[in-house]
Amino acid sequence: MSWESTEHYYRLINEATRNALGGLHSAPIAMFSVDFQEIEALQQLGDWGTAAKILAARAAQIEAAGAELLLICTNTMHKVADEVAAAISIPLLHLADATALRIQESRFSKVGLLGTKFAMEQDFYKGRLVSHGLEVIVPTEPDQDTVHQIIYDELCLGRIRDESRKEYLRIIDDLARSGAQGVIAGCTEIGLLVKQEDTSVPLFDTTVIHAQQAVAEALK
Ligand code: GLU
Repeated sequence: MSWESTEHYYRLINEATRNALGGLHSAPIAMFSVDFQEIEALQQLGDWGTAAKILAARAAQIEAAGAELLLICTNTMHKVADEVAAAISIPLLHLADATALRIQESRFSKVGLLGTKFAMEQDFYKGRLVSHGLEVIVPTEPDQDTVHQIIYDELCLGRIRDESRKEYLRIIDDLARSGAQGVIAGCTEIGLLVKQEDTSVPLFDTTVIHAQQAVAEALK
């Protein structure tokens, strides 16, 4: 949704396509890249109805452009996934479902979740993971604030700071100490800050998972 993660998605989808098909293959993609300032203002206001209308209209345009599968390239805006899905006749690949499937393949049952406060607190995301039979734990309230602020004040603006990486790694370690077998990087920009090589705790990067699963679905 911020173009920082959209760019990351675009690369991942094309890399997965090239890896699967070889040669000069790349992914045919119809993308609507929104003005994130407008969406973020609606999030702050809690005006999810207007946000849903905007995303639903964009989804219909993407379908009209010939897409056969839709991705909402952010965890948070899955808050309006049902409204978006209702506006189109092509399937929507839900990010929480794709992530839960990958975790289950790893045979983990208890995971930590990092993301925006909307995703960490609300049923549309955390609850959806739980509905797949996973136990999901989240950071303490102050740590949730830290994780959330770093997403909006830094990562969505392309600011990658060592201090923020240290904070995230501390919070990931705390979740592991509380019994999480792995931690979901449940915001599409987190992978820009923290990578698997930074920690011994297994990380589930939702951007990578979503992009890879989209390619697998498209090539079925
Ligand atoms: N991209 C982030 C997410 O995955 C947060 C910003 C947004 O609302 O898109 O939740």
